[in-house]
Amino acid sequence: MPARNKNVAVIGSGFSGLAAACFLAREGCNVTVYEKNSTVGGRARAYQKDGFFFDMGPSWYWMPDIFERFFAEFGKKPSDYYELVKLDPGFQMIFGDDDILPVPANLDALYALFESIEKGSAEQLKRFMKEGEFKYKVGMKDLVYKPAFSWFEFATKDVITGALKMDVFKSMSAYVRRFFKDARLRALMEFPVLFLGAMPDKIPALYSLMNFAALDMGTWYPIKGMAEIPNAMYALAKELGVHFELDCEVKRVIIERDNVTKVSTSKGVFLANGVVGAGDYNHIDQHIVPEEFRNYNADYWEKKTFAPSCLIFYIGVNKKVKRLIHHNLFFDTDFDKHSKEIYQNPQWPEDPLFYACVPSKTDSNVAPEGMENIFILIPVAPGLEDSEPVRERYYGKIIERLEKYTGDAIAAHVVHKRSYCINDFKADYNAFKGNAYGLANTLMQTAVLKPSLKNKKLSNLFYAGQLTVPGPGVPPALISGQLAAEQLLKTFN
Ligand SMILES: Cc1cc2nc3c(=O)[nH]c(=O)nc-3n(C[C@H](O)[C@H](O)[C@H](O)COP(=O)(O)OP(=O)(O)OC[C@H]3O[C@@H](n4cnc5c(N)ncnc54)[C@H](O)[C@@H]3O)c2cc1C
Repeated sequence: MPARNKNVAVIGSGFSGLAAACFLAREGCNVTVYEKNSTVGGRARAYQKDGFFFDMGPSWYWMPDIFERFFAEFGKKPSDYYELVKLDPGFQMIFGDDDILPVPANLDALYALFESIEKGSAEQLKRFMKEGEFKYKVGMKDLVYKPAFSWFEFATKDVITGALKMDVFKSMSAYVRRFFKDARLRALMEFPVLFLGAMPDKIPALYSLMNFAALDMGTWYPIKGMAEIPNAMYALAKELGVHFELDCEVKRVIIERDNVTKVSTSKGVFLANGVVGAGDYNHIDQHIVPEEFRNYNADYWEKKTFAPSCLIFYIGVNKKVKRLIHHNLFFDTDFDKHSKEIYQNPQWPEDPLFYACVPSKTDSNVAPEGMENIFILIPVAPGLEDSEPVRERYYGKIIERLEKYTGDAIAAHVVHKRSYCINDFKADYNAFKGNAYGLANTLMQTAVLKPSLKNKKLSNLFYAGQLTVPGPGVPPALISGQLAAEQLLKTFN
C-alpha cells in the first residue's frame, strides 16, 4: 500500500486533527500528532477542579449521525466509547423572567407548542422541517464531504434538480420570516444558525438544515461531558497506532523542492512525508509555513469575517440552582444591539445575551453531590482588548441576572470560578484575534470561497479545522480532518 510507512505529522489534536490522524493511520501511515497543550481535544478540552468537571468549549451534541458515520469508518460505534442521552427539553429560551420557551424533544409536542403561540404555525413548522430535512440529506450526501477545490464538485443530480429548494441565495432571517410572525418563534428558528458565526440575515437559508438537525434529530449529551468525544477519538487513534507528542508545539515546516520534509517543534525536528495542519489555519499559514509558500497574506485574513469570540465563566455552586435546565439561552435583552456590538461596531456589549449550560442537571459526574456546574458563555467580537477588570464587570452583571431570574442567591455560593476569553484563545490555541469558532459561514465564505484545504504551493501540506471547509462546529471540524487526510493520501499514490 503506497501510504504504508509514510511519516505524517498532524499539527493539533482538536476534532480535525484527531479525525485526520485516524484516517491516515488506517491506511498505514506512521502518524504523529503534535499538540502544544498537555491534553488532547483542542477547544473541546475539559478540566477538573474542586470536584467539578468542566467542558471548556462545545456543549451541544447535534447531528449524531456524523459521529456514528465517523466511528463506523473504523468498525466502531460511539457507544463503544461513551454513553449518549437525549435531552428533553432539548433547551430553553428565556425571553424574560416569566417568559420561557422550553423546546421539547418530541416533534408532536413541538408542533403543539408552536400552535399554542401562533395559530397556523404548526403546519408552517411541518413545512419548514420538511424543507430542512431535504437540505440536510442533500447537504450531507453531496455538499459537506467535499474538499471544495471547485464548484463542479457540487454539481450532482440532486443538487442541480433541487437547486431552488436549497435556498442558497436567500437569507436565513428572510426565510424564517416567511413562515412565522411571532418574535419568539422567529428567535427560536434563527438561533441554530448562530452556531455558524454570523447573523441570520448574513447566513444562507441553506442552513435551515441546522433546524432539522436541532429540532428533529435532537440535542444529545455524552455522560461525563463533551470531552468524552475527543477522548474516544484519542483512544481510537491509539488503537490505530497513532503516536502523540503532547506539550509539543510545531514551530516551522521545513521544505525541500516544494515539499515538506520535516517539522521543527519545541521538542526537536522530525521527519514528515506529509502534513495536516489542524491547528488554527491562520496560525499555520502565517507562522509555521515559510512566507514564500503561504496560501494567503495578512491582508486576506484582516478582510475575513470572523465568527465571534466569547467570554466564558466556569462556575461551581455549592447548592442546586432553580429554574435552569441543561441548556439555557438568555434572549432577554436586545439581540440586534448585541449583534451590532459583535459584527458592525466591535465593542464590549452593553447588555449581552448569554448562554448558561448546567450539565449537572443531567449528569451527577460533573459536580459534587448537591452542587451545580455552570458554564456561562457571552459572545463577543474577536480582537477586543481583554482584561481582568472587564471580565469581572461581566461576571457581576451575569450573576446578578441569574439571581434575578432564578430568584435565588448565587454569588455567595460560588465555590469555584474561572474565566476564559480572547487572551486565552490566543495563548492556548494560537487563535487569530482570539476567535472561538473560526470563520463566519456567510455566502461569500462558503465552500470554494473558504480558505483552501490545500496548500497551493506545497504538494504535501493540507489544512484542516474550523477555518477551512466545511466550516465551524464540532461535526464540520471532524469532517475537515477526514477530507484533509483523504487528499494527503492521494498524494502518496
Ligand atoms: C466556547 C466554545 C463553545 C463551542 N460550542 C460548540 C458546540 O456547542 N457545538 C459545536 O458543534 N461546536 C462548538 N464550538 C466549536 C467547536 O468546538 C470547534 O469548531 C471545534 O472544536 C474546532 O476543532 P478544530 O480541530 O478545528 O480546532 P481546535 O479544537 O482549536 O484544535 C486545534 C489544536 O491545535 C493545537 N495547536 C495550535 N497551534 C499548534 C502548534 N503550532 N503546534 C501544535 N499544536 C497546535 C491547539 O492547541 C489545539 O489543540 C465551540 C467552540 C468554543 C470555543
